[in-house]
Amino acid sequence: MNENYRRLAVRNPRTGADDYEIQAPGAASLAATAGRLRSAQKAWSRAGIEHRASVLRDWSAALLARPEPLLDALSTDTGRFLLARSEVNALGGMVAGYSALGRQLLADSPGRDSVTPGVFIRSQLVPYPLVGVISPWNFPFLLSTLDAIPALLAGAAVMVKPSEVTPRFVAPLMDSIARFPELAGVFHVFAGDGASGAALLDQVDAVCFTGSVRTGRSVGEHCAQRFIPSFLELGGKDPAIVLPGADPEQAASIVLRASVQGTGQACQSLERVYVPEQEHDAFVEALLRQAAQVRLNWPDMHQGHVGPLIFAPQAEIIASHLRDAVERGAVIRHGGQIESHGGGLWLLPTVVTGVNHTMLLMREETFGPVIPVMPYRDLDEAVALANDSDYGLSAAVIGDESLAQEIALRMEAGAISINDGALTTEVFDAEKNAFRLSGLGASRMGPSGLLRFLRRKALLIQRGRARDIAMLDESLAAAGPAASAVGER
Ligand code: NAD
Repeated sequence: MNENYRRLAVRNPRTGADDYEIQAPGAASLAATAGRLRSAQKAWSRAGIEHRASVLRDWSAALLARPEPLLDALSTDTGRFLLARSEVNALGGMVAGYSALGRQLLADSPGRDSVTPGVFIRSQLVPYPLVGVISPWNFPFLLSTLDAIPALLAGAAVMVKPSEVTPRFVAPLMDSIARFPELAGVFHVFAGDGASGAALLDQVDAVCFTGSVRTGRSVGEHCAQRFIPSFLELGGKDPAIVLPGADPEQAASIVLRASVQGTGQACQSLERVYVPEQEHDAFVEALLRQAAQVRLNWPDMHQGHVGPLIFAPQAEIIASHLRDAVERGAVIRHGGQIESHGGGLWLLPTVVTGVNHTMLLMREETFGPVIPVMPYRDLDEAVALANDSDYGLSAAVIGDESLAQEIALRMEAGAISINDGALTTEVFDAEKNAFRLSGLGASRMGPSGLLRFLRRKALLIQRGRARDIAMLDESLAAAGPAASAVGER
């Protein structure tokens, strides 16, 4: 093996065995790849949006026509099948949606007169030549492509480094890209660890990072030192407010799904639930009844609702949050025990009552299928509790739609699902910004999701009298404001 690579073992989340290996590239190898991508990017950028959209459409259609190798690898990475399939299937819509948007946003504009007399303005959009994407282990394929696709459509070349915890999908993905040489020239996905991610930061012109606040802070600091933009999508502790009068069965069903999806290993999982104190018991009863129906996807991956914990150390974080809550007076009403089956780690939906904001469970990202429920006296208190967090990624409000919109206005979070939960997993065309520690930079969704990869260059075309040295003559001031100097109109 080339000394520029390091071997890393990869754990299987269903068996606990290290049954895969990656070779993480070092800085020299990354620099060589970056150089190759930069050269090809020039023609890619010149080729225009229509051509780029057609290359991406052909590639994604070919991949989706024969998704098995990718799907097998991704479901082994994550220990679940249905969500792996949704991640892969999302590619078609993503390519089509961003291509349509790209045609609109990159269309030639005729220009306009400036408010400065005589000057005509046109603009040119210039992509960052090379965009780096660093993604986490919870939705490995989706979060590796969500930023890469609009960046490629914008005309950039892209290097993606997924998490070392879930890297099996990289090989089949690269196989599919290799069948489209033009795309392979500008799109490279490689397996590597944190050190490879850090090395990537020195090779690129803009960075999309999805991951923890801790790593995001260091990525942001590094990019600031290099004066390159970083778009940071970080953790969350999403609250749900159940409004007075909401149907408890419906509210419980929304909360259960949005807390348990992906085994709660999702940034936009509902991790805190606030219900009116008079309706607390009816809601908890409905939640317990529904939670009792939920099954682990063990021993058969194709049965049940809840997959294994993907990242083994997460089990100890979840257990420590539960221990801390119980020590401070909380009661676990369902679930609560990390279960070991066949070497993998699982947790049933865990419903906790008697919680308060001194507990880790209500303050820090748990990243498991844990649902703490807390009563509130009135809506002012509900909003104050929801906003009492270091995070501000997203949130949910359940109940009367117009009241929910009023409450949403007061909530400090970037996306509020109303009468559903965690809709940002599926809805990619609504712009949103993270609040507080949940992220920084332009929205990854909607038009800004593509425009953020372009710098706007202004062409200031003088069609009147060009500025000349006579305009700097001090004596012009005595002649009155009409005898204009530079900068005056
Ligand atoms: P992580 O921060 O540990 O790792 C994320 C990625 O960063 C990995 O690819 C890792 O190899 C890489 N990395 C590690 N150190 C690095 C460094 N010094 N420089 C550059 N890259 C480095 O996060 P994780 O545990 O993989 O993911 C879980 C976190 O991701 C949770 O906090 C979750 O909320 C967050 N997340 C956020 C969103 C969002 O859209 N806001 C979506 C999914 C996950």
